[in-house]
Amino acid sequence: MSQKPSHRSTISNQVMDLFQASASLVAILEPEELFVALLTRVVEALPAVHGGVLWSFDPKNGRLRASATAGLPLDAAGRQILLNSTLRSGDGVIGTTFLRDEPRIVETHLGYRDILGTVAPANANLFQQMSEQLPRRLVCAYVPMRVGNEVIGVLELLNLGNPVEMPDGRAIEVDDLPMLQIFANLAASAMKNAHLYHQAQRSERRLKAFDAVVTAISTAADLGDLVHSVLHVVMGLVDETSGALLLLDPAHDHLDLGAHQNLPPACIEALTRVPVAISPCEEVVHFGQPMLRPLLEERGEVAFLAAGFSGCAYFPLLAGGTVAGVLALYGDTDLPMHADREMLLPICNQVGFAVANVRLYADSSRERRKLHTVVTSIAEGVLLCDGRGRLMLANEAALTLLRLDSLPFEQRLADMPDFYRMRDMNGDRLTLDQLPFARALAGEIFQDYRLILRGSSGDETVMSFSGAPARADDGQIEGAVVVFRDVTTHEKLERAKDEFLAVAAHELRSPLAAVRNYADLLLRREQQRSQADSRDVRGLTILTQQVSHMLRMVDNLLDVSRIDAGQLDLQLQPVNLVALANQVIDQQRPAAGSRELVLEYPDAELMIACDSLRIHQVMTNLINNAIKYSPEGGRVSVRLRVVHDVQRHLFGDQPSAEVETLLQRSAEHGLVVITVTDEGGGITPEQQARLFERFYRARSQRAEGLGLGLYLSRQFVQMHGGVIWVESVEGAGSTFAFALPIRV
Ligand code: ADP
Repeated sequence: MSQKPSHRSTISNQVMDLFQASASLVAILEPEELFVALLTRVVEALPAVHGGVLWSFDPKNGRLRASATAGLPLDAAGRQILLNSTLRSGDGVIGTTFLRDEPRIVETHLGYRDILGTVAPANANLFQQMSEQLPRRLVCAYVPMRVGNEVIGVLELLNLGNPVEMPDGRAIEVDDLPMLQIFANLAASAMKNAHLYHQAQRSERRLKAFDAVVTAISTAADLGDLVHSVLHVVMGLVDETSGALLLLDPAHDHLDLGAHQNLPPACIEALTRVPVAISPCEEVVHFGQPMLRPLLEERGEVAFLAAGFSGCAYFPLLAGGTVAGVLALYGDTDLPMHADREMLLPICNQVGFAVANVRLYADSSRERRKLHTVVTSIAEGVLLCDGRGRLMLANEAALTLLRLDSLPFEQRLADMPDFYRMRDMNGDRLTLDQLPFARALAGEIFQDYRLILRGSSGDETVMSFSGAPARADDGQIEGAVVVFRDVTTHEKLERAKDEFLAVAAHELRSPLAAVRNYADLLLRREQQRSQADSRDVRGLTILTQQVSHMLRMVDNLLDVSRIDAGQLDLQLQPVNLVALANQVIDQQRPAAGSRELVLEYPDAELMIACDSLRIHQVMTNLINNAIKYSPEGGRVSVRLRVVHDVQRHLFGDQPSAEVETLLQRSAEHGLVVITVTDEGGGITPEQQARLFERFYRARSQRAEGLGLGLYLSRQFVQMHGGVIWVESVEGAGSTFAFALPIRV
């Protein structure tokens, strides 16, 4: 009787073979190659194993993928089906082995499809097709591939024939499982090694690629150079040889061809200035996500298909959240699968930022050039300083006006307090905070700030400065702009005019006062003698009113010249504002015609210390204006109130220093607010800004006047430490208000 080799010794021989074979596997570092080598060794070393499939687990999608096959009698299509299939953990016998981490042997007479068990229907059909190429009788071993506690795949080993026909007369048996498990674990370690090695290599390659792109970016001279060298570097990193860099135009309407490589003329033409709306990569521009897909006729990629390409990959060039362009790669059907997204995405971000930066730089240079042209071509002197008052820019006109050959750029104001040799209009030296730059840097916006510039030969020039702070986006002051011009002649003319007016007013006042007194006298006599509405009475009434009006204008002119000469002093005394307001209203009643005049006040007595003559003048001006500039039948309301808890918003939105002072002065005793509201046509915002200027009158004004009433009112209120302002909506009346601090 012939002795069969003992089962045990056969196994130990086989184990030896297998382990010897697997020792060489460690040297294989390419994963795909390793998978195939692994399977081939098992098939060679174990007679009971005729073929195998290596299922490796991809943690990214949670699926097992057939990574390699060996020894299976499958045709090319069958093998492709297998290699394209994936299984979820828990799917069929393979997924279950993986999930439970248990080796097992399964036997069937009904074919491979039967062995697999429950799998997703989409896969089931494909497996059925493949299964038909394998024998119906199968014995299969499924072994989890472990590295430590981790399972990284499943080794599937198939016995395809009748065990009786096998040399050692047996198929795979349960006894073989421990040995197979050891082998599977060894194989798993080799796989893990290869995987780690591969990953390290990939990272290194990506780093190098990134480095190359950054170098290309940093050495580029302009946008054209940048896109060309970047594309050149990128094309050296990918397997594809054809590609293009498309740049989104600043209006985001078109994609312009920035650079291209290895593309035939028809493709270049198809990529030249394409409206985004009809571009094949419209979604990439809109959503900022890469798109990898087969080329499609209906997406306008005919030229590329005709040139023999079949796959494309579009990557957005992202600069933060915005798309600056697109990297387009063209290749075969594999391109969408194999393009290295992880390498290309950060590279494209880098390129996106670089493109955006180059554009920003170009934009800002253009703006600088424009600004420079404007600044140099205007006749006014222009000076610009930074947040610390260092002079940063000046035009030729500034040098000429300041009569300097050069300006002390970069120096701080504080280091050259007398640099500008400025004096105020009284001829006094300026303190540092009175310099135009200093005022603008303190946040003030000013116009027509007049200063005297003293030349080396003692001659004097009057300069009018306008200035404003330059603010950053967050509102912080980061510099200031000052514009100035020579107003010496203007100033002289104004002086001459003021002097003439002062003299004329002075000379006119006495005869006018005499005429008014006589007119008054005559009127009173005529009223006693004849009827109230006789022609003479009416004539004399008009005469006195007109003369009074002329006298008021002359008085205003005289006040202006007194203020200019610094000769107007206040006579402070306790005054009951309610009584004063009543008096003004009574005096204005004849002029009011059919307009209703009303006075509202909290108490019959509202005492404050003020110059009653001047406050009387202010009230008269405001009430007289309200009458003059509102229609017959309307109402003019005068309101007096005391405010103790003074809030900033009380004064409208004027940002003046006077408001701050008044806030401080009224902190203790509060203030009185007097408002005069009319139902007239209102005042436009532009007019409101100028109402309180000397001689200002709205152009459309028909009523008589000199434009001095509000100017003087403001002067008088300010002399009292108060504030005057207007609130008005065009077409809906105006409210003039002034506030005086309560003094005790
Ligand atoms: P005048 O009334 O003598 O012209 P004012 O200094 O009193 O000078 O006023 C300046 C200008 O302000 C007026 O010409 C007028 O255009 C405008 N104004 C003043 N008060 C009112 C008002 N209540 N309603 C509309 N416009 C006004």
